Amino acid sequence: MADAQMYIQLGLLAIVAAIGASFTFALPKPRHRLKAKSASYARWFLLCAWCVLACQSLTALGYNIIGLPGVYASAVVGAYMLLMSVLMRFGVEVSQLKKFAALLHVCAVFVIASVLTATQAAGWVTHGLALTSVAFPLWLAGQRVKQHLDVGHVGGYLLFGVLNLLVVLVLFGVPVYLTVVAKDSPYHLTITFALTLIVMLTFMLAYAVNILQSLLIKLHSQVHTDPLTGAKNRHFFYEIAPKLAAHAHRNHETLSLVACDIDYFKSINDQHGHVIGDIALKRFCEIIQAQLRREDTLIRMGGEEFLILSPQCDGAKACLLAERLRETISATKISTRGVTLNLTASFGVIQMSPDADLFSTVKHADKALYDAKANGRNQVIMV
Ligand code: GH3
Ligand code: MG
Ligand code: MG
Repeated sequence: MADAQMYIQLGLLAIVAAIGASFTFALPKPRHRLKAKSASYARWFLLCAWCVLACQSLTALGYNIIGLPGVYASAVVGAYMLLMSVLMRFGVEVSQLKKFAALLHVCAVFVIASVLTATQAAGWVTHGLALTSVAFPLWLAGQRVKQHLDVGHVGGYLLFGVLNLLVVLVLFGVPVYLTVVAKDSPYHLTITFALTLIVMLTFMLAYAVNILQSLLIKLHSQVHTDPLTGAKNRHFFYEIAPKLAAHAHRNHETLSLVACDIDYFKSINDQHGHVIGDIALKRFCEIIQAQLRREDTLIRMGGEEFLILSPQCDGAKACLLAERLRETISATKISTRGVTLNLTASFGVIQMSPDADLFSTVKHADKALYDAKANGRNQVIMV
């Protein structure tokens, strides 16, 4: 009867592991070379978790000599697989040396546990060695997630929480459990089954939430990003920019706007074609972005017209910025596909007044830009 229950538990866990593994195939695969590998390590982790119960069952059947070292080795390998899955998830390269060190660690745990079990000396030394060996990679994984924690990324916090909980459970929960529940208790295997199941399910949940949320964040940022230049787009201008302006006003910060338009861009398309025109636009944005601070935002309002939002920047500083941009652009030659282009651009600058709204301020900046065009182009005019 007890055997039947054991096989049912093993079967159930195998089904959960199989569903979890198939789920990792169904999740969207990132294009990043390392991140794409994360799912395969997650599959190995689920298999190792299943192996823990399988080896524990061997112990229950009386095959202590294989069972106990098997439980420890599977648990340590599982913890390393989880660490690898987390590292790959964040695109971290793992050197061959580190992989070799992990392999040595697993082998050492297996050999020591085997020797101690075979000589009937297995006890708290073996448990202590195994538990710290499992906790170590889990702790490392938690530290890695911590480095990447992002405000608002619930999936990251969930994964971080699960990993820390696992470390606490392994280091404190298991010893308490081993002391309180007698080794020969008939519930020993059932409790191991329940714990393994909980670990598998929480990991699968945290992993899936983490990946799906990253995808949502990426989609959200793509909605606001111009695919050609990587600058923000008009959606950003209408949805986010008014909030930035309101935030600046609330904090009594200055906010300046720089409107910018490339001079005679149509003639570049006419002479060299749209492909060269697109490359020129891309390079133009790279040149501008390189001159901006982190807090400045470049928005492509349409065609070859841009707007720069510059918080904590008064009109005079914004004018200096626009002048620096104008000089850099006219001094930089853009060479591509055998064509060398020398772009210039015109700028309109305005410092937003506290009682004005963003859209009317942009109109004034556009007017200054229009004046710069009318004055002969390649110049900066401030309102
Ligand atoms: P001005 O100095 O008065 O600004 O002259 P301009 O030729 O730059 O002005 P205009 O606004 O009339 O022309 C903008 C041109 O930009 C029209 C279009 O051919 C080109 N353009 C707009 N968007 C794109 C784009 O995404 N790719 C390419 N290659 N060209 C674009
Ligand atoms: Mg133009
Ligand atoms: Mg234009």
